[in-house]
Amino acid sequence: MRALKNRIRNIPDFPRKGIQFKDITTLLSDPASFQRAIDLMAHRHFANGIDAVIGVEARGFIMGAAMAYKLGTGVILVRKPGKLPYKTVAATYSLEYGKDRLEIHEDAIRKGMRVIVADDVLATGGTMEAVVGLLTRLGAEVVECCFLAELTALKGRDKLKGQKIFSLLKYTD
Ligand code: AMP
Repeated sequence: MRALKNRIRNIPDFPRKGIQFKDITTLLSDPASFQRAIDLMAHRHFANGIDAVIGVEARGFIMGAAMAYKLGTGVILVRKPGKLPYKTVAATYSLEYGKDRLEIHEDAIRKGMRVIVADDVLATGGTMEAVVGLLTRLGAEVVECCFLAELTALKGRDKLKGQKIFSLLKYTD
């Protein structure tokens, strides 16, 4: 795990002062690290009857698509407003400053579908809370929220009570 952690670059004060930005591009571009991270995130679900992996724009697309390929499922996209071409349902959620919105195609989920949601970083948990809300509204069973990295000090898990959460790497700073 230490080797994988060392592949993630910390950028202080990006995009704003006070934020320790976890730059995962340095892990993604290293073949062995990318493969190992995806294997470790996906392999726990081989026998779990997962129907689809949900990828959250934008870096969640990378984790989600690779995990889905590994598990032999499809990948379903949750996107920023105005990007999906068909009819959508949306969730609005609070950011540190202001609000944001995420959308999914209204017919993307079959009732009772067992899904994993993938993203790169769990920070405050607001994004994942909104995604879980959307999926639940559409009748999905969220089996796990799965992250490459978690910033534990931001207590994102508190927003996701009742959900199973997995994070491969944990950062306490
Ligand atoms: P949150 O809703 O606060 O949990 O933020 C989650 C989203 O913002 C994730 O999709 C991350 O890609 C991104 N994010 C938030 N904080 C960071 C950070 N410190 N480093 C890298 N990405 C972050």
